Amino acid sequence: MAEGAAKSPRKEAIRLSKLLELSLGSDRFPVDVAALAKEVSRNCGDPIDKIIGDELPGFEGMLRPHKKRPAWHIVYSTSPQYRGRERFTVAHEFGHYMLHRPELSPADYPDGVLNRACGFECLPLQSNEWKQAEREREEEADTFASYLLMPIDDYRLQVGQNEISRELLAHITRRYGVSLLAAVRKWIEFTDMRAAMVVACDGYARWGRASDAALKTGIFIPSGMPIPEGSIAGMGPSGLSEQDRAAQLPEGIWTFRRGSEPVRELTIFSERLGLSVTLLMFERAPPKHWPIDELVPDAYDQFLRSGQP
Ligand SMILES: [Zn+2]
Repeated sequence: MAEGAAKSPRKEAIRLSKLLELSLGSDRFPVDVAALAKEVSRNCGDPIDKIIGDELPGFEGMLRPHKKRPAWHIVYSTSPQYRGRERFTVAHEFGHYMLHRPELSPADYPDGVLNRACGFECLPLQSNEWKQAEREREEEADTFASYLLMPIDDYRLQVGQNEISRELLAHITRRYGVSLLAAVRKWIEFTDMRAAMVVACDGYARWGRASDAALKTGIFIPSGMPIPEGSIAGMGPSGLSEQDRAAQLPEGIWTFRRGSEPVRELTIFSERLGLSVTLLMFERAPPKHWPIDELVPDAYDQFLRSGQP
């Protein structure tokens, strides 16, 4: 766990991103996070001296202390399940290094061998298996990675006035070197639009998140929510040939806590992972007949990340 004052994951990532911008200018994407991690940690007493891919059964990544001297290794999984997520995983582990590691010194190696357990072994998040402190720590490392790899100002510029489309998402994932899911999740976090994302498998939502504006109007995605049959996601990959732009669906298909409204839906299927990633975009204002009552609690924030595209 962290020693000393807790650092803000967002501020730390933005600080490093500004340094990169100063040295490389706007042409700094995708972020070479391995080179950055080594460079930034070089002047610490316990630098990151190795970053490697390996088979990590069950794990997505690790930040491991060196057994014989004050140093760290980042290991990321080379499993096909996590293909496309390597850069994000390295950034996540770098986040643990910057935010959570105990600083190692020769005193931690009294007989030439590390005398404490202090590594980080990162699993895909499972909502029920994590204790609160672990969940917060993992979320912080994700937030760090997200802000380091996809600065919001730059992301906004890429989107401009355009509606999110398959082509635009392809551009975003290429520019930042991240997975589709990481790119969509980031957009949901900062967009002013009423929008939501749903990751589904076998007809049910496994994970979902609504934008702040959507959440305030009663839209959230509980995990386990059935995917409507009349939706693009519900039709499955064979239901539609390559969908580039969002399809306009009438009221009555996607239904939420306060009822149903028309929605624009863009769904991308990953046959490799057997998942669909759906983006729902609603009208700016909620329907007039929707009651505006109390804010929805954080039940929407269900983390079931295993098998992300
Ligand atoms: Zn982690």
